[in-house]
Amino acid sequence: MNAAMKSVHIKTALPGPKAQALIARDAEVSSPSYPRDYPFAMSHGRGTVVWDVDGNRFLDFAAGIAVCSTGHAHPQVVDAVKGAADRFLHISSDYWHEEMTALGERLARLAPMRTLAGEPAMSFLCQSGTEAVEGALKLARYVTRRPRYLGFLGGFHGRTMGSLSFTSSKYTQQLGFAPTMPGVTHVPFPNPYRPLFAGADQGKAVLDYIRLLFERSVPAAEVAAILVEPIQGEGGYLVPPDGFLAGLRALCDEHGILLIFDEVQAGVGRTGKMFACEHWGVAPDIMTLAKGLGSGLPIGAVVAKRSIMSQWKRGAHGNTYGGNPLACAAANATLDLVAEGLADNAARVGAHFMQRLGELARDYPCIGEVRGRGLMIGMELIENDAERTPARALCEAVITRAFHNGLLLLACGASTVRFMPPLTVGIGEVDEAIELLRASLDQALAGA
Ligand code: PMP
Repeated sequence: MNAAMKSVHIKTALPGPKAQALIARDAEVSSPSYPRDYPFAMSHGRGTVVWDVDGNRFLDFAAGIAVCSTGHAHPQVVDAVKGAADRFLHISSDYWHEEMTALGERLARLAPMRTLAGEPAMSFLCQSGTEAVEGALKLARYVTRRPRYLGFLGGFHGRTMGSLSFTSSKYTQQLGFAPTMPGVTHVPFPNPYRPLFAGADQGKAVLDYIRLLFERSVPAAEVAAILVEPIQGEGGYLVPPDGFLAGLRALCDEHGILLIFDEVQAGVGRTGKMFACEHWGVAPDIMTLAKGLGSGLPIGAVVAKRSIMSQWKRGAHGNTYGGNPLACAAANATLDLVAEGLADNAARVGAHFMQRLGELARDYPCIGEVRGRGLMIGMELIENDAERTPARALCEAVITRAFHNGLLLLACGASTVRFMPPLTVGIGEVDEAIELLRASLDQALAGA
């Protein structure tokens, strides 16, 4: 046992008896389609720490897939939800209530359309990321009356039929569901670590590729919108080169195409700024939010320039649960916490995390690249070769070993370990995670 193993918490073999029993019952009744990588059965959580039903403690660096932005059971969020629940659990979006309007006001104040481009914003509320994307796609088509869209290879936007038509972080996501929505063309996302094009500027190369597409096969005048994640999430935590989003913005302006930023994973403080697009000072026409917005309560939002969303006629788009008071109360508390310090904490702790991972990368040649912004960090694992072959099995093994060592992680891309702890995470917890990760890498490399 090396020195790093001292901080390993697990006392019993995993899964413990209670987790085993729950997982066995669940297998009888739950869809087998959930991608479940290891047997964590949750009991409760506080901040960055979660406990399973057998009493084992884990550091949660997956945070419900970047959802638990304020940490588990943040008292301010819990109080806000309890307060709302005491008043009423639901009123449909046919009516008005304070939490919903207050959330609209917060989103309008924080929206990058306003902060970066000086335009007023409006929002449409729903329950999830995929619904927000559906709303954004419908809004773009409704406003432009154009039939086509561009999306990006490696993008992830959800699993309902419209968003699924863009989702391509793994080919299996669309497998079995064809035909998807017509009119969607995928283009490569710039990846300087794995360049597809000659030349140093992969962002410019992709923009040239889109121009070529417009000349040869997809008439720009028929394109309603370009849908892009400002930092690609499920596809591998890819940070675009400087100038890329600005180039997309210019291309859209030139052709009257709407630019949709899917900030479902990267938004709401995750990258150290309220929205990821702020890193490059580029405002979209439409933005989608979900995940971290509600700290775990299901909520999504389509945020758009008022000049665009105000074109929706009464009844053009709607739902039953949009503006649910519990979800809105959680989102209001979350946005306040993020604006008042958690985005800054993500930037500060994220910088420390990147530095510590950089040190690890010097010790382990299988770490090909560490990249990200704030607390959206990916560590790409490669076979130890010049071709940078993705080390898929190693990535899986590291994540499994980390679970057994008391650290919850998820993968993205072909072989990238991703780190997306709550935005409340402290330096000490990051240092603890680094030790657990080092132990997990040692074990995985040793074939343990
Ligand atoms: N967009 C992005 C960028 C996402 O990462 C996800 C979920 N991983 C979605 C949309 C879909 O969100 P949901 O699972 O809430 O439908």
